[in-house]
Amino acid sequence: MATDPYGNQGQPRRRGMGFGGIRWWVLLLFAGYAGYYWISNRSTDALTGETVLIDKNISPEDEKQLGLQAWDELLQTERPVSPNDPNAKAVRDIASRLIAKIGPVSDSLAAEHGLTAPHIEKTFDWDVNLLESEQVNAFCLPGGKMAVYTGLLPVAQNQDAMAVVMGHEITHALLRHGAQRMSEQKLAQMGQMAGAMSGMDQSQMQAVMAVYGYGRALPYARKQETQADEMGLMLAAAACFNPKEAIPLWERMGQASGGEAPPEFSSTHPNPGTRIQNLQALMPKAMEYRKKFCETAQ
Ligand SMILES: [Zn+2]
Repeated sequence: MATDPYGNQGQPRRRGMGFGGIRWWVLLLFAGYAGYYWISNRSTDALTGETVLIDKNISPEDEKQLGLQAWDELLQTERPVSPNDPNAKAVRDIASRLIAKIGPVSDSLAAEHGLTAPHIEKTFDWDVNLLESEQVNAFCLPGGKMAVYTGLLPVAQNQDAMAVVMGHEITHALLRHGAQRMSEQKLAQMGQMAGAMSGMDQSQMQAVMAVYGYGRALPYARKQETQADEMGLMLAAAACFNPKEAIPLWERMGQASGGEAPPEFSSTHPNPGTRIQNLQALMPKAMEYRKKFCETAQ
């Protein structure tokens, strides 16, 4: 919001008028629309038990298409390591073990909230790649295109820690975090438009947006991170990885990021101390999942 999308060309702005001269009906109309949008597009996520906003016009199938597009674009510049490379194989094996546990772990998490898991993973076509890049990063796009950057290998150091990161990324896709962000953005854009149409000036708009949560984008992203951490840890534990490796992993991640935080693990992420505390608190549950899904499977 650094620039006024409607510019200041021509008409001089009214100044020093407080909130006078604003077309309030425009704002009321927007408030009505926002309320309607929220009510008609909210749902309860079965896997987290949280109320979420996902535009009903964005289907998992649409998201998958966007994921495929993003993947194609990425391949214009990024180079996957040969599938026969031992590291590429290791990453694929870890992914297969995690993917095999999505069904039972989802059912178990949903049952905790008295709900039924949606199992959108059944619509995914999984494709796991290792990409040659210094970046300490990994991602899973909706639809199942997944990648680990070679830069993550020395930070992950072992397959347990790698499983924790990959479980985290898979969870972002399963919980439809992308669709949630698109829906929030749509509402924020409408709000900005309404503000401009009502005759608010830039500082008034900023004041209002701050109250009504334009600044929500960040804590919202943090919440998604916490959710991804939790379900990711359960997936790793259920797939017989050692969830306790999550703690030293995030410590290394903090060191690796130093001044320059890697993109997926950047400022929108919980600060490392909080994240580690959360993960510590989740450890008993993770060990339970390991007992329930790993030990019985062997
Ligand atoms: Zn994340």
